[in-house]
Amino acid sequence: MNTESRKAALRYYFARVVDPLGFKFTPDEEIADFLLEQEVKLEHDHGMPYCPCQGRTEDRAQDMRIVCPCIPYHRLHFDVMKRCWCGLYVHKDVTDPDSLPQISEARALAIAAERGMTETKGG
Ligand code: SF4
Repeated sequence: MNTESRKAALRYYFARVVDPLGFKFTPDEEIADFLLEQEVKLEHDHGMPYCPCQGRTEDRAQDMRIVCPCIPYHRLHFDVMKRCWCGLYVHKDVTDPDSLPQISEARALAIAAERGMTETKGG
């Protein structure tokens, strides 16, 4: 396995998946490169580019929900944070990813309810 070429392939493919969802790669290139490298290792060891920041359960159905990009499975949560859990992706209008803290799913869903948000952004 050539890690650099696989990272480039994942970057190309993932960009096309997250774009219609309203997300882009974080502008923090160091973080993006590090996380993609972890995903290449996870893919090599476990067969899928699993999330580097969320633990696998060994339950395949559950674990498929954390194959990158997992945005469709965590839509409201990530839309409230304007980033995914790891920070590999951010909303397209984000220029300062360091300003976006992680928020628990329960807290994010409560905020979404307060704001009347639904899972409609970007289709
Ligand atoms: S939290 Fe981000 S990096 Fe992790 S799997 Fe989901 S989209 Fe990918």
